Amino acid sequence: GSRSRTPLELKDIFIAVKTTRKYHKSRLDLLFQTWVSKAKEQTFIFTDGEDQELRRRAGANVVNTNCSAAHTRQALCCKMSVEYDKFIESQRKWFCHMDDDNYVIVPSLLKLLSSFQHTQDVYLGRPSLDHPIEAAERVKSDGSVSVKFWFATGGAGFCISRGLALKMSPWASLGNFISTAEKIRLPDDCTIGYIIEALLEVTLTHTHLFHSHLENLQRLPTDTVLEQVTLSYGGFENRRNVVSIGGAFSLVEDPSRFKTVHCLLYPETDWCPSKAHH
Ligand code: UDP
Ligand code: MN
Repeated sequence: GSRSRTPLELKDIFIAVKTTRKYHKSRLDLLFQTWVSKAKEQTFIFTDGEDQELRRRAGANVVNTNCSAAHTRQALCCKMSVEYDKFIESQRKWFCHMDDDNYVIVPSLLKLLSSFQHTQDVYLGRPSLDHPIEAAERVKSDGSVSVKFWFATGGAGFCISRGLALKMSPWASLGNFISTAEKIRLPDDCTIGYIIEALLEVTLTHTHLFHSHLENLQRLPTDTVLEQVTLSYGGFENRRNVVSIGGAFSLVEDPSRFKTVHCLLYPETDWCPSKAHH
């Protein structure tokens, strides 16, 4: 149509970062130093333990979920349900969930979301499997029925429009998310897919611009790294699974490559090596 739309702005996005007390130093510090500094007002940290230093740094943008710090389905679903409730409360146009080992290329995220309308039903992310998942849906009487649906892998980040998020409310708001997850006994990201694809019959828009460490990150072509929307890095068992990009820092100085990516995107950053000295 010819009607002009108001351009999407950074302040229209709600970025939720899921973390846990033990990762505040080892993972969150790097995020604050890099991409979060470009989206301070938009980024909300969902954690499970009070931390004075984090509170000083991020103030009201830290949400202590009071969820258990255990890595169980219940604890992770508890966090997702608080993320959802806070987003609804925020009145923003887009909900994006991230893990604390994701780098968000903020301009790319804004550009991608700008091509969709927040009032429509949009569920955007990277499918973690090359086929839909099949789950046994527990039903009240006896037995169970099987359901098939796609879901966006939480470790790569995903986004949901406000229009769609509002429709999810009966299964996602105020504790309902936890009962929904119990019904299919699957993790938080699968439960999001179940609500959207299986219950609301809205399809996942597959994007390859989101990345988790479940894929081989080294295979991402170097010249496309800065155009992606999210990146990640391998954990303890796979330290070498990082994007292949050279620049300011060696693999020893910057094992995740996040600082290197950040300095290529924002060379004026004070801790990035200044070109003037060469
Ligand atoms: N996480 C959490 N509680 C835990 C363990 C992990 O909230 O007890 C979060 C963690 O901070 C991260 C996400 O869950 O945002 C995924 O954790 P991790 O990267 O360690 O595991 P993965 O599933 O990616 O292998
Ligand atoms: Mn991870």
